[in-house]
Amino acid sequence: MNPKSLEARNCDDTPFEGMHIDHFEHLNNLKNRSPCPRCGKSRMYFCYTCYVPVSKLADRIPICKLPIKVDIIKHKREIDGKSTAAHAAVLAPQDVNVYIYPEVPNYNLDKTVLLYPGADARTVQELFTGQKNTVTYKEHLLAELPHGYNVGTLRTKIVDIDNNFNIYHTDKFPIDRVVLIDSTWNQSRGIYADERLQQIPKVVLQNRVSQFWRHQKGSPRWYLSTVEALHQLLLELHLCAWGRSVHYRSQLSFQYPIHSFDDHPQCNPYTGQYDNLLYFFKFMYEKLHTLYKHEDMLSYKRPMS
Ligand SMILES: [Zn+2]
Repeated sequence: MNPKSLEARNCDDTPFEGMHIDHFEHLNNLKNRSPCPRCGKSRMYFCYTCYVPVSKLADRIPICKLPIKVDIIKHKREIDGKSTAAHAAVLAPQDVNVYIYPEVPNYNLDKTVLLYPGADARTVQELFTGQKNTVTYKEHLLAELPHGYNVGTLRTKIVDIDNNFNIYHTDKFPIDRVVLIDSTWNQSRGIYADERLQQIPKVVLQNRVSQFWRHQKGSPRWYLSTVEALHQLLLELHLCAWGRSVHYRSQLSFQYPIHSFDDHPQCNPYTGQYDNLLYFFKFMYEKLHTLYKHEDMLSYKRPMS
């Protein structure tokens, strides 16, 4: 087995550092399952088939408002309780829909992307420029990000969003919908081969390590769980559009007074707007890490490539 790279070790030390994720101590007080308010099945925190929290947690979990719509296509054999698709659907109920394959909605191909790596996939920056390989993030942007985000730290070609110039100061994203395939590493190719999904333009994320605890045979360490991938995509979109620091904001409002940030309150630098998508993910990660040692968990021994 490959020795773990330095990046992986660093990321593993503080995987959520700097993220804005609400407190979840009250989840630990739930000792018993209770019936789902919709289907009545016995659930612990939320129902992974109805995508609602149990009654005791109603109004006690964060709700995320997302800037684009999200469709998750689930493999029918993907085990509900093990998938993180439900995390996204419970935490962002207005914006996330889950479909069970072979159900696939019809899409407007101009504004929709499928999150899937591949030779013809564009990066998030390329969505903004419409061109191939024009932009990379610069290291100072990466340096500004707290450790938990680790955008692009594993790509050989790092990345260059130069000061304000490659931040696209727009009040709209280039896409309004993303489609994700929720399946194991081995199942994903089968769904991907469906021509209704093949025809959607693809987008690929910067590589980052997954903190998902579920071991999947053969999957590399950068194969993200669904909710991690969604969070990462939104983070990259937001960084491309509006950057990270208030420094950018003052430069932008000087350069583009029309795009006044007061008129477009959503056009703010990234300050954790979507981090609560990882609310249950972080809770479960920490719970498991009280039971097992990180070094002993198979999932974190996966090779990077
Ligand atoms: Zn239910």
